Amino acid sequence: MDSVPETFVQMFDGTSVLVAAYDEFDRLRYANPAFRAAFFLDENETPLWSEIMRRNHDAGRGSVIRAKDFEAWLISTQSRRGKTGFRAYETDLVDGRWLWMTESVRGDGWMLCIASDITGLRAEDRAVRQDRDFAVKTSYTDELTGIANRRFVTERIEEMLRRPPSKAGVPGCIGLLDIDHFKLVNDRHGHQAGDLILRDFAQRISGLIRRSDCFGRVGGEEFVLVLPRTPIGQAALLVERMLATVRTARPFADRPDVAYTFSAGLAEGRPDDSAASLYARADKALYSAKMGGRNRIYCDGSEPDRPAIAQ
Ligand code: GH3
Ligand code: MG
Ligand code: MG
Repeated sequence: MDSVPETFVQMFDGTSVLVAAYDEFDRLRYANPAFRAAFFLDENETPLWSEIMRRNHDAGRGSVIRAKDFEAWLISTQSRRGKTGFRAYETDLVDGRWLWMTESVRGDGWMLCIASDITGLRAEDRAVRQDRDFAVKTSYTDELTGIANRRFVTERIEEMLRRPPSKAGVPGCIGLLDIDHFKLVNDRHGHQAGDLILRDFAQRISGLIRRSDCFGRVGGEEFVLVLPRTPIGQAALLVERMLATVRTARPFADRPDVAYTFSAGLAEGRPDDSAASLYARADKALYSAKMGGRNRIYCDGSEPDRPAIAQ
């Protein structure tokens, strides 16, 4: 007799329900034939979700994307995609079909997507439901950069602290990232250039995190990283990579003299933490990074007069 997993796969192969699994980097690791047909995927390929979306958008097929700027839509969607335990929404395909898509995310970041065809179902109320989904999305989005806002980030911190820790006993870390001397950037280059730098920063950092991590803008030039189940040493290495990326960034193609940096404070969650207590420790670490000369990271609990990782 076949084992249950084998039987499951055979059943998925034969159903018209769309089934797919993505890993924590948002790479497709499994998709049944119905899913592959809807999104024009070859039998064995395992692209990133962003590649599937971009490719289909360029070819005018797959999901309907109503935004004018595809890349901005991608960053905005990625900043909220697959970070909550469960999500369900209606979505339509260019071929006219409507799908009821569910996304279930495991603690390790793998995500199971199941979608069924609801084209003929309650179509008359669809506009109302879409408006509601749009309003929810807007309430979690930072208007200037398109990434997650303070409300969304705070919920992710609370969720991380509530979730059972990883096998190593680590709930995870948060990082506060603050652009250096931003007032001077505005004074020198103008407020509009400042806004473009904020967008550049949001885009660059978003490209360096896993899908199960979260990155959002919580204030003027202040951003927060939420890294579930990540030990502080690993989180520090990631932020070091972000510092290096931003040091080489030249946000304006026609002005190679304009560069910027940021400072970061990292803190690891403890079992008795609230979002506020964890945030306060990361804020203290950020203050140390600023006092220590900026353009660097400090970790909560490391030597107060030394950067966590030497520059
Ligand atoms: P530090 O290195 O200590 O962080 O110095 P800073 O100048 O970055 O910090 P400060 O908090 O003194 O100033 C933040 C500045 O960010 C002040 C404000 O003009 C600017 N700012 C806040 N929100 C926005 C925004 O949405 N767009 C632009 N262009 N500037 C903003
Ligand atoms: Mg600043
Ligand atoms: Mg600030």
